Amino acid sequence: MLGAGQASFRGQQIFEALYRHRIENLDAISTLPRNLRSQLEAEGWSVGMPRISQKFVSSDGTIRYLVELADGETVETVWMPEGDDGESGDGTEAGDESESGATANRFTRATICVSSQVGCAVNCRFCLTALLGVKRNLEAGEIVGQVAVVLRDRQVEPPIQRVNLVFMGMGEPFLNYENFMKAARLLVEGVGIPESRMTVSTAGIVPRIYDFGAEPVRPKLAISLNGSNDELRAAVMPLNRKWNLSDLMEAARKFPLRARERLTFEYVLLAGVNDSPAQARELRELVRGVRAKVNLIALNPGAELPYQTPEKQSVLEFQEILVRAGVPAFVRKPRGRDIYAACGQLKRTIDIAPAPAVP
Ligand code: SF4
Repeated sequence: MLGAGQASFRGQQIFEALYRHRIENLDAISTLPRNLRSQLEAEGWSVGMPRISQKFVSSDGTIRYLVELADGETVETVWMPEGDDGESGDGTEAGDESESGATANRFTRATICVSSQVGCAVNCRFCLTALLGVKRNLEAGEIVGQVAVVLRDRQVEPPIQRVNLVFMGMGEPFLNYENFMKAARLLVEGVGIPESRMTVSTAGIVPRIYDFGAEPVRPKLAISLNGSNDELRAAVMPLNRKWNLSDLMEAARKFPLRARERLTFEYVLLAGVNDSPAQARELRELVRGVRAKVNLIALNPGAELPYQTPEKQSVLEFQEILVRAGVPAFVRKPRGRDIYAACGQLKRTIDIAPAPAVP
């Protein structure tokens, strides 16, 4: 705005119109004088949001959105009313919330799972997104845009409360680090979602974990482990050959946690592969001494995957071994499995029955 010969507060007005009020065209920014709006338009400026191209609704209330970007590429964004217990025990307000109690906004708390890339290059063997390969990085505006369109669709108006964000959708955020961080800052300062309500999950891009720890504004960190030793982890996540468990755990131990904050380790349980009691004990030793909790996720089924979902009993036994040793461990609820919205299932599946209208 200064460059256009305007007062600097005009820039603030545009920022608020875009991110707080989610205005979709320049002409609707009523805080700007009409002639300035026309001038910006004449100069070729435009504003806008991604488009919801399809919407799939699960019997558990989860909604999977197929979000179309300006170039026609699509990513997936998931709305989980009542969350998936991913925040449990992480020491923050978001983790402390209970699920009971009605509110004016029709949800007690909700979690939005956001994508950071079109597809993914990391190739975790248990993940359907990996089958897509990576097409491109998302820009910061496209990452924020997913949150904005879902909030608008769910009629969540500012001030935004009880909404948590997890950057665990399609893509590896730390392979699109600059755009991801810019988006996180915009979400905090513009959209108004506190950083303590955001969690980013990495498959273990070790150098970026150090960079992330030095950021003045940052979400909480989750590290996807999925194997209790190098051989096992490399079989499930080939990335482990580049950054092995000793590199990764050193970065985890050195990660500067804030007061009350805990690191999260995610562990997808694959029947007969990494879910035995011996592996639980190995995991227990691996995370010993880190201020962390473990989120256990029973594999979500996918026809093209070479793994099976474990029995409930073995998931509970695995959890019990960790808890008995004083490691907080939580079993994440699968959300939206019937619509391919659960962890590791995001691959833009559209050949299922169209979603019924959501009130
Ligand atoms: S689990 Fe995450 S990092 Fe791994 S392939 Fe899937 S989207 Fe990529």
